[in-house]
This record gives sequence, structure tokens and C-alpha cells, in this order.
Amino acid sequence: ARKGKTPEEVVKRYLQKVRNPPEEGPGVSGVSRGESVGRLVTCGHQYHLQCLVAMYNNGNKDGSLQCPTCKTIYGVKTGNQPPGKMEYHVIPHSLPGHPDCRTIRIIYNIPPGIQGPEHPNPGKPFTARGFPRHCYLPDSEKGRKVLRLLLVAWDRRLIFSVGTSSTTGESDTVIWNEVHHKTEFGSNLTGHGHPDPGHLDNVLEELRAQGITEEESLQ
Ligand code: NAD
Ligand code: ZN
Repeated sequence: ARKGKTPEEVVKRYLQKVRNPPEEGPGVSGVSRGESVGRLVTCGHQYHLQCLVAMYNNGNKDGSLQCPTCKTIYGVKTGNQPPGKMEYHVIPHSLPGHPDCRTIRIIYNIPPGIQGPEHPNPGKPFTARGFPRHCYLPDSEKGRKVLRLLLVAWDRRLIFSVGTSSTTGESDTVIWNEVHHKTEFGSNLTGHGHPDPGHLDNVLEELRAQGITEEESLQ
């Protein structure tokens, strides 16, 4: 028996058939398979089946699909974060902007390694700069919620990626993915520090865009 689903089977799981408009003229025996169109079941956007299959094949083939128009996620989106460790603990200091609570420090550690098939250059080494990377959240109700969701994001390999660093220009290196972290505690030299009143809400929005919400973290 074949293991797993083919890309076409995955895509079809999230598509409803769209009745093809009747072809005009004699001798036309219908629409070819390559032109078949489907409607994504939740958001309703319509695509050629083969376009979605091509998009799926360009990704990391984890059984999930994201609507190119509205970003609705079908299935569970995962990333290509390399192996490593995520730890956290509470430190007895307040962050600028959060005088009434202590602070959660997250420590990410990812060693350099060899790229897998899910990375830009499979078989080639990747570097990992500036690890361990320390990040800070207020130990408030909302900060703890963000932490819970970040733990889900870590398990789904969505916190880091392998690619070209926009800060250093180095390629084939570990880089932050689409979820912003605060890496400075008492200062804000990089713009990735405190205070930043909108930060927790921004992160919740970025996590949502990766398919991670509070409901998910309770499953
Ligand atoms: P990147 O520069 O490609 O940026 C990806 C995302 O991360 C962007 O959204 C960007 O805004 C954000 N980002 C950039 N710098 C950040 C920072 N200091 N803190 C939090 N978010 C940041 O991604 P990257 O190459 O992973 O980011 C640069 C990071 O790399 C820095 O945190 C730095 O500590 C680390 N680094 C350290 C060394 C070293 O030798 N110590 C060398 C290279 C990079
Ligand atoms: Zn859509």
C-alpha cells in the first residue's frame, strides 16, 4: 500500500467541485482534467486543481494548504525549522512598559547542521548565528497566552526557517520566521526591544496567520 496521500489527493480534500460551464460548439467533449476548477471549502475561492497541486508541491508537503487569496489555512500548517531546543523560565524583573509583572525569558537554541529536503539547498550545510537567542515576554495573562501559542508554533516548526538573513545578507542560515520576538530586555537598540505596547497583539495576529489560535493550543 502507498504511504500517505498524493498531492492531488491532499488538495482535493479541501476542494468542492465547481460545475464547469457547458462548452460551446459541436465536437467539444468537455473540459480536460488539467482545466478542472474547484472551490476551497471554507473560504470559497476558486482555483484550477492543477494550480493548487503545483503550489502544494512547491511547499513542504505537510498535508496542509493555504488559500493564496485570503490565507485561510486548510489542515495544520507546519514549517521547516531545523532541530533544536526551546526553553523558558520566569525571571524576577519587570520589562519596560510592564511594571506590574515579572518576565518570561524564552531561550531558543538551534545548532548548525545539514539542510534537509524541506530546505532551500538540500544536502548543503546551514549556519546558525547568535544562538542561544533570548526573548522576553511579560509574565501577564496575555504574555502567558502568547507563550502557550509559541510552544505550539515551535512544535509545528514555525518559529525559525532556513534562508537568507535580511539583517546580515548571509544565505543558508537559520532566520526568524514570520512571528516577531523581543530579543532585548532593558533597551531597544535594534527596535526588537521594549517598550512596545502593541507587541503582544501583533504576535497573536502573526500566530493566527500561521494557523495558531488559543483554541488550537487547548487541543
Ligand atoms: P532576518 O534578519 O532575516 O529577519 C527576519 C525577521 O526577524 C524580520 O522580521 C526581522 O524584523 C526580525 N529580526 C531581525 N533582527 C532581530 C532581532 N535582533 N531580534 C528580533 N527579531 C529580529 O533574521 P535573522 O538573521 O534571524 O535576524 C537577525 C538576528 O540574528 C539577530 O537577532 C541577531 O542576534 C542574530 N545574529 C547574530 C549573530 C552573531 O554572531 N551574534 C550573527 C548574525 C545574526
Ligand atoms: Zn480564500
